[in-house]
Amino acid sequence: MRVFSFLIVRDGETVKHYRIRQLDAGGYFIARKATFSTLTELVKHYSQSSDGLCVKLSKPCRKLEAPSTNGLSYDTVDHWEIERTSLKLLKKLGAGQFGEVWEGLWNNTTLVAIKTLKPGTMNKNDFLREAAIMKKLRHPKLIQLYAVCSLEEPIYIVTELMKNGSLLEYLQKDGGLKLKIPDLIDMAAQIAAGMAFLESQHYIHRDLAARNVLVGENNICKVADFGLARCFKVEKDKDPTDSDDVYQASEGAKFPVKWTAPEAINFCKFSIKSDVWSFGILLYELVTYGKMPYPGWTNFQTIQKIGSGYRMHQPPSCPIPLYNVMQQCWKDNPVERPTFETLQWTLEEFFETDPTSYSDANAFVR
Ligand code: ATP
Repeated sequence: MRVFSFLIVRDGETVKHYRIRQLDAGGYFIARKATFSTLTELVKHYSQSSDGLCVKLSKPCRKLEAPSTNGLSYDTVDHWEIERTSLKLLKKLGAGQFGEVWEGLWNNTTLVAIKTLKPGTMNKNDFLREAAIMKKLRHPKLIQLYAVCSLEEPIYIVTELMKNGSLLEYLQKDGGLKLKIPDLIDMAAQIAAGMAFLESQHYIHRDLAARNVLVGENNICKVADFGLARCFKVEKDKDPTDSDDVYQASEGAKFPVKWTAPEAINFCKFSIKSDVWSFGILLYELVTYGKMPYPGWTNFQTIQKIGSGYRMHQPPSCPIPLYNVMQQCWKDNPVERPTFETLQWTLEEFFETDPTSYSDANAFVR
């Protein structure tokens, strides 16, 4: 038996993904009790009765977001250093630690996001080496790097534009108000899917956090800024003991301390398993609608407490099985943490084991 595809269903503001499995002998099913020889029959069945789905199928969904992961044009596939003059900066979308992000227009035709990097924040050769790899990483749950302007500073990084900005802001502002637990779990599953792809490519993110996930239409989530963290330089005039900074300097690198696994903080041992630790923190951000992890603690206090075995408690609105997933991600021994592949399936199947949990979890509100 293997997974064939997904049925994506919209129920009011909720979007739910159901796995369609394929039988070895042919035929498809969502729940084993109802199998169909063709997908058309499957769709017809669930159009007549919901039979366990969150709603009965009505009309096909209009595709709102083009899966624009193939670059800006044929030309940028091979020549992805583009002319700065081909970009128009239209509207500032935000600013991060390392520069600004603008909504822009490329060649007067294509809307893009343009990240402008503060001069001197990045080692240019490191960046170009990293960007060459990032360019090849294509997946529907990863923000696609389209092109760069790196010949002079400020370096521009041109990526796909996401309508609803960062997940952190989305959770904290109006967007978060309408999100219930099933939506949050669906978003977590999407992020795990993007990370599972990086895992399969033996690539490490190093800065997985809600601020580095972007949101499009219909709560579509994509992982951003993968690999960039290793290119940033420590600012010489920055006080490394500045304990409230998300990114704290340590031995020539900057760490988002509260998201970083202990072995990465203490011994610079970054791996996909340190990303899994960060994913656990991201789950905390999701379920608390963007609260700062370890509230009220400084980075230093966090490092000390984690070292002595402390872990964050179950947030009030967090279902126990989801808290169990977080705890798995925060195992001291990296090997004991789950893979992203496992996390993806665990989250996608979150409501499959107990059909009543879907409606129960819907009752969770902020
Ligand atoms: P830091 O740089 O410190 O990690 P950050 O990730 O929030 O922080 P940026 O990546 O510079 O900073 O992004 C700043 C803001 O710009 C984000 O919070 C988001 O709202 C917006 N933004 C970034 N990339 C995009 C994009 N591709 N599409 C739409 N909005 C974006």
